[in-house]
Parts: sequence; structure tokens; C-alpha cells
Amino acid sequence: MNPKKCFVVSFFILTISFLFCCSPPEKDKPMEEAPKMGRYLSDPAPDTDGLTKILVYYDMEGISGQNDMRSLSFGNEEYDKAREWLTNDVNAVIDGLFAGGADEIYVVDAHGSGNPDPDMLVDRMDKRAQLVSKDESFDAYTALTEKGVYDAVAVVCMHSKTGGRGFAAHTYTIGMEWILNEMSINETEIIAYSWGRADVPVIFASGDDKLQEQLEWMDWLEYVKVKTAKGAGDADLIPFEEVHQNMREAAKRAVENLPNSKATHLTLPIKAQLRTVYPARLDQLEGVPGIDYNDQTVTFTAEDFQEAYEGITALIGVATRGYVRLLGDVIDTHENASKIYTEYGEKIESTWVEVESGLWKPPTKPEKKATKRKYFGYR
Ligand SMILES: [Zn+2]
Repeated sequence: MNPKKCFVVSFFILTISFLFCCSPPEKDKPMEEAPKMGRYLSDPAPDTDGLTKILVYYDMEGISGQNDMRSLSFGNEEYDKAREWLTNDVNAVIDGLFAGGADEIYVVDAHGSGNPDPDMLVDRMDKRAQLVSKDESFDAYTALTEKGVYDAVAVVCMHSKTGGRGFAAHTYTIGMEWILNEMSINETEIIAYSWGRADVPVIFASGDDKLQEQLEWMDWLEYVKVKTAKGAGDADLIPFEEVHQNMREAAKRAVENLPNSKATHLTLPIKAQLRTVYPARLDQLEGVPGIDYNDQTVTFTAEDFQEAYEGITALIGVATRGYVRLLGDVIDTHENASKIYTEYGEKIESTWVEVESGLWKPPTKPEKKATKRKYFGYR
């Protein structure tokens, strides 16, 4: 993923989560006991309609066959190849979930590649499953969470958290470490805590060896390792056939063992922290009254998961501004660097004069245009 793209994507995600987030789902359960870990487990909610409905999330960093970062962004040649592999992984999991007894399967896109269409090849998706879409852009991690709709969640092609040394390790976007109740978490855990609010368990996950280690505490979870990370930019791969066989078997077991799975909850209130790793940064907030800042970390207290999530994503909007400092390094390599800096200075000055003279106003929030198109998540 290139930082510029990611910067744009994350800004977009942030805007979207503010503009279109549905009303927050039911508050997290009150604390039943006082566990030291900052989290607790509960039994999954009993089925209400007699059907086993499963929601499958897919991301794009934990795809089998993939060890090239260029495969993550729309527009790259490698991305097209990765879409095929992604589709094969998702289909293998769907097949296994049905074999285990699932009645209905829904699939949601959770990756921000920049492609307005879903990253997986929908024409080639198992016809028994349906893709989730809405008339408005939505935050797949939080906006779908509702009681009594799904029985379980499966996550496919996921990745390690920031600092976790996995392939393309990040949390939400580049350089962000999410720390909830003193626990540094990954996106699979974000999904697990989001769905825990509805007492829905995460029963299956796939990704690299580092994510597997990070999820060991979820001992009911069926996990399929698809590669061994060699730093953030490379991985040793496992042959497709072996991965897909494992996916089918593990997904089948996951549905069969659904009654023994657990919903996950954070104890409330939540101590929420965003810690940044370069090139993201939060030090521009140092000394700002009302902000608890220390060592690239901002800390706040959230009453529930939704508040923690929205607070951290808002801070991410600030932290991604740190990427811009690298823009200077890029400009410096160009022959006309000084011309660009001069134009930049002039642009600031002319904008200032126009605004101060009442000749121009910066645009307010973009108006929502009525469109016929469908949205598949963070778009
Ligand atoms: Zn992700």
C-alpha cells in the first residue's frame, strides 16, 4: 500500500464513519465480574430463527499466494492477480461453512484498496453466498453489528496488528496501534469486540503466522495459516491446494463447534489509546489542553466500544497528517523542488488574502449526492 493512497483512503474512511455511521448498536454488556485482563467472554446468543447465518469479512493482506505489497492497491498489476487468489480463498471458506451446516452466508468487503467495486471477483463468488451492499457508504466493522441477525462471523485474509511483525502489519491504516484496556489489538479483534456487543462470536480466521499468535487467546477459533511472514514486506507461502483444503476443513469445524465458541467483550469503561509509529504521528497534539498525550500516544476514556472506535478513528485522521512530512522528502528528489515550494508558499498566501477579503470561502462538508450505485463498505 502506498502511503499517499493510504492517507487518502484513511481520510475517506474517517469522513465516512462520521457521515454515515448508523446509530450505535446496543451498548456493551455491563461487566459481569472484574477480570484483570480488561476483557471477558460470554456464550453466543441463542439462535432466533432456526437458521445458521454467517457473515464473512474479507481483507486483502492475508491472501494465500500473496507476498508482494503492490497487490494491495487498486491500479497495480499485482492487485488483479491478488483478486483472483482472494476469491479462491473466500470460496474455500464459504464451501467449508456450508459443509459445517450454515444455512445462509453473507460476505462483506473490509479492505480499502481504492477500488469502488468489491475487491473480490463477485462473478466468481460461490453462488450460494450473497454480497452485503448498501445505498450509502458504511463502516463494515461497526455499522452492521446488530443482535439477532447473524449467528457467527468468519474473517478471511486478515493481517497482523501494527508492531506485530506480520506481512503488511497495520491496524486500520499504516502506523496506528490500537490499545484498548492496555491490550494492543488487531483488526480481527476489532471485529470480535464489535460483534461481541451482539453476543455473536468470531469462529474462523485466516492469515499469516503472526496473526495466528495474536489470536491464540481465542481458543475456540479455527485458524488457517496461509503464510509465514518475513517482515512486513515479504512472506514464505504455503501451496494453494493445502491452504484451501485446510480452509474447508477448519470452516466446517467452526460451524459444527459454534455452540462452544465465545462472544468477546471489553470491560467498561474502556481505557482507549492510539499510539503511532512513524510515518504516522500524534506529537502535533502535545500541549493541547484537554488531550492526554505522551510519547506518540493519546489516551482517553470511552463509555463503550463505539465511543472508543469513533475516538480512535478520529485520532487516526490527525495521525495520518504525519505522512505528509514524507512528501517533502519526495519533492526534494525532484529537479524543480524549489519551484514547488515557492508555488506552495504563494498558494498559502493567496488563499489567505482571498479568504480575509471575503472573496472566497473554503468548501464546507461535501453534499451527499443521490446516486444509484451500491456501496460495499469503506467507499
Ligand atoms: Zn485490514
